[in-house]
Amino acid sequence: MVPAHRIPPEVTLACRRLQEAGFPAYVVGGAVRDLLRCPDESTAKDFDLTTAATPEQVIAIFGRSKVIPTGIAHGTVTVLCERHGGKPHPIEITTFRGEVGFSDGRRPDRIEFITDLVEDLRRRDFTVNAIAWDPVRQLLVDPFDGQGDLQRKRICAVGDPVARFAEDGLRVMRAVRFAAQLGFVVDAATRQAFVGALPTLRKVSRERIRDELLKLLAQSQPSLGLRLMLLPTDGSPHLRWSHDGNILQVVLPEVAHEVQSVQAVDVLCAAIESLPCALRLGALLWPMRRWLLGAGAQVLTVPKALAELLDERLKLPSSDRQHLATLLTMPVMSPKQLDLMHGPTLRRLLGTYSEATLDALLRTQRAFAQAEGDLLWAARLSQLLDRVCDERAKNPPLQIADLAISGKDLLRELALPPGPLLGELLRELLSVVLDDPAQNDRAVLLDRAKNLLSQRNFRH
Ligand code: ATP
Ligand code: MG
Repeated sequence: MVPAHRIPPEVTLACRRLQEAGFPAYVVGGAVRDLLRCPDESTAKDFDLTTAATPEQVIAIFGRSKVIPTGIAHGTVTVLCERHGGKPHPIEITTFRGEVGFSDGRRPDRIEFITDLVEDLRRRDFTVNAIAWDPVRQLLVDPFDGQGDLQRKRICAVGDPVARFAEDGLRVMRAVRFAAQLGFVVDAATRQAFVGALPTLRKVSRERIRDELLKLLAQSQPSLGLRLMLLPTDGSPHLRWSHDGNILQVVLPEVAHEVQSVQAVDVLCAAIESLPCALRLGALLWPMRRWLLGAGAQVLTVPKALAELLDERLKLPSSDRQHLATLLTMPVMSPKQLDLMHGPTLRRLLGTYSEATLDALLRTQRAFAQAEGDLLWAARLSQLLDRVCDERAKNPPLQIADLAISGKDLLRELALPPGPLLGELLRELLSVVLDDPAQNDRAVLLDRAKNLLSQRNFRH
């Protein structure tokens, strides 16, 4: 049973209003699944309703001012439901619908509004997502034994998995994401249908694939899904990488190309899982560094070209693309270099890369060292990360903009003409303060600049 007290009163009230107007209405999807699974934790956040009322009828019931037409063509509107002593609660209400066609493997050719709840549940992806709950009559509708699969901890397609994946290839990614999110296994028949679904997954928009991939990486145990993406889709114990496709080959072929052994899969999964969410996509792409050295070397070692490839694969915002392209092309920290990373050398490193990029590099390197069992190297990288942190805490000048004297001041004080000479002087002064931050004082730097000018015989 769904614990009634966990359904917010405004959700029950919305169902009641629809029902009093003559339309069956239920809570459906993720909220019902999560409340049945963990009745004591309030993990459910989005309460989606499904109803026999059409969008126009929903608008008539709740009033035009309370309804946002979020996806009217698909039968979805968002109703702002009054909440006792709080901001209105936006609740998505979707009309029972059937989906017809799917000739492109992505979207239904046509949807039709229907009046039968079971038909609405039938078009949903997995049995655990196809359970409806009527909070007014306290009635559960579960025609595909979603509750059984919740108990068995199993992701199982509604109906014939081959046909369901052929309708919408994204469902393969959703299966993998839910396996990680819920800690479930994918049912054998559903899993076996992955391989036939790869051509359909290829047709799905990169934006939808990206959203599922990022949701997967945000789970506490993404490896539960990543393994399903990385291992051959037929689930055979013998890895025949060249013959069997896997999901990652469709999503990120350049990464899949470099992860072709059980050990490589283990290392990649462990490294990703040990990192905080923000660094996980970078870690998933990390094997591309090896790919860049081989096949892609001619064109893609340039961060700009790599950023374009990442755009093609995952449609990321440009700042993320640039960050990732830098991460994948910047030199890694070598043991020899690491020994030198103190004082001036360390500050020069801090001045060269942004805080986010350098942290990502060192943490990712450490995660892979740990995953590969090179604990000594991992420990040394940890020490370097501590030194980086200590040095940053002192807030030393690292950039020309941090100098205690500005370019404008220098021009005036030294009566210099504008030109490349000024840039050269500023770089020299930066080098002075990188060697010794105590030199970052206006008078000291002005003196230094005068000396530099006379030493080098700079004349104007
Ligand atoms: P989450 O907790 O991640 O929000 P959810 O189950 O609510 O999980 P949504 O993506 O919000 O997932 O979708 C809501 C519901 O819509 C699902 O539970 C499922 O019934 C249905 N659904 C969503 N996407 C698909 C799809 N591609 N194919 C079939 N049904 C889908
Ligand atoms: Mg949801």
